[in-house]
Amino acid sequence: MHITDYSWTEFQNLSMPEKVISLSRNDGTPFHTLFAQQFNRANLDRLCRLATEIRTIAKTRYGMTFLRSLLAHKRAMLYFTQPSSRTFLSFLSACQITGLNVGEVRDTATSSEYKGESREDSIRTFSSYFDLIIMRSQEKGLAEHMAWTLSNSERPIPIINAGSGKDQHPTQALLDIYTLKRSFERRGGLRDKTVMFVGDLARGRTVRSLSQLLINYENIRQVFVAPAPLQIGQDVLNTLTSHGVQWEVTSDMHARLPDVDAVYMTRMQDEWDSTKGESAKIDTSRFKIGVEEMRLCKPDAIIMHPLPRRDEISTEVDHDPRAMYWRQMRNGMWIRAALIASTFDCAGRIDEFHRENL
Ligand code: ASP
Repeated sequence: MHITDYSWTEFQNLSMPEKVISLSRNDGTPFHTLFAQQFNRANLDRLCRLATEIRTIAKTRYGMTFLRSLLAHKRAMLYFTQPSSRTFLSFLSACQITGLNVGEVRDTATSSEYKGESREDSIRTFSSYFDLIIMRSQEKGLAEHMAWTLSNSERPIPIINAGSGKDQHPTQALLDIYTLKRSFERRGGLRDKTVMFVGDLARGRTVRSLSQLLINYENIRQVFVAPAPLQIGQDVLNTLTSHGVQWEVTSDMHARLPDVDAVYMTRMQDEWDSTKGESAKIDTSRFKIGVEEMRLCKPDAIIMHPLPRRDEISTEVDHDPRAMYWRQMRNGMWIRAALIASTFDCAGRIDEFHRENL
């Protein structure tokens, strides 16, 4: 069944596997990209390969001219009503790399939403002028609702979720997977490894999405380290258990540092505090990485962070070759370019150019 076969209420009540099917095209790839659950091992491998091809092709003027010609006839809208630096800029760059012209709304005070226009009418307005909408919102489920709205309109253009509420950030998880795969290329690949998540796991959407994508890789153990009030949700643990993934929940980061292959740090998500200053009362002093902690880590462990950071990774760590967060950020541009190319069915042309020219 396709998304257009359901009313909004029916669609909302579908199970996640049913939603995934209803959002897929005939070849099984996502039309709208809304959830991490839409990615399986086959489409993850495909996107990572495509990202590497784009990265290689983009090194020459000839290659860039080819890439920019791919979607020169299309336009994308960046609809970001929640603050963003890296996701916004890397999507903007990814659009430029693949030749898309871009428009943006970052503040509803400058659009007709300010005059009381509904989100549905706004999104249909955007779809009149653009061929793709990349959106970020602090509202859980808004991207989903907008995807349903467009699919049931006369201009059913794709939506990419660039972060929704505390819940999902599927394209951050894609770049995290791409970073892990590249980092472990010479260490047997992304398998038989331990990934440790540290920080505000209760409210960090990047952790939820990455934890989900890691299920697709063999024997990846997941360790969740946080002070009790910020620990990972039971729903995430239940999902891991149902897939036979080994996991551990602890508040002792220092004890686990010597055994892990990747440390995924996150900041305090205090914008979600229900009372002002609530997060500041939580003791996070044992959940920070500095030079001392780096001494405890394996010589080939990697340190990741979706950024922005506060003080959870000391700036002294930036010069350590194991600090991967700057490269991780740049990987976002390549994997997002790959996602855009595959959303518009250009992957085959990129493969062909790569085969013939590199
Ligand atoms: N940039 C990431 C996000 O949008 C992480 C963060 O903000 O802490 O979720």
